[in-house]
Amino acid sequence: MTDISYQSQRDSIVAAVRELDARGLVSGSSGNVSLRLENEGNHERYLVTPAGISYDELTADDLVVVDEQLEPVGAELVPSTESLLHHGIYQARPDVGAVVHTHSLYASIVAVTSKRIPPVVDEMIVYVGGPVEVADYEFPGTSELAEAGVRALGDRRAVLLRNHGLCAAAPSLKEAMHVAILVERVAQIYVHAEMMGGAVALPDYAVEAERQVYLMRSGLADSE
Ligand SMILES: [Zn+2]
Repeated sequence: MTDISYQSQRDSIVAAVRELDARGLVSGSSGNVSLRLENEGNHERYLVTPAGISYDELTADDLVVVDEQLEPVGAELVPSTESLLHHGIYQARPDVGAVVHTHSLYASIVAVTSKRIPPVVDEMIVYVGGPVEVADYEFPGTSELAEAGVRALGDRRAVLLRNHGLCAAAPSLKEAMHVAILVERVAQIYVHAEMMGGAVALPDYAVEAERQVYLMRSGLADSE
């Protein structure tokens, strides 16, 4: 029994995981989802999906509360093996409140080519902040992967992990889910466009104008 329930946050992660599963963006226990919880006392806490539980069996009680050292708080299950990646993003990006990591098919196809997804549709600039860069390869579950992911993420909301998958990070879980779904769709468009002779990037002026919209909406406009 734990003294912290976070029931609504638990329910929102379970709903997100069910949606990822229904959309085919995760399979088995691949991928993971986390939320930055409100501060309790002077400690940051996060709610993370557990390692090794199939998503169709996951319940709200299985989710693991971890502290800033990633130690489970009053939980019996082990947090996701990619907790370091989630935690690295939260540390680097105070604006991020939720992280969704998937091994979705088309994002993974682009990730195994070690290419980024160039700015090919307007929505990705407005909602993701620009192209989806690809992080250098590092072993899954390591602090090196977390560092590479954070570096390639920059101030945007999605990053490809080379030979691995996709990570979406946004202020809310709803927004992170939207980004994960959007980037998978954009990856699908990009892969097919490349097969049809090559995707053409948006004009620079459109990318620049739409990126200003992203920065304003994200409260990041002063960072440039
Ligand atoms: Zn993964």
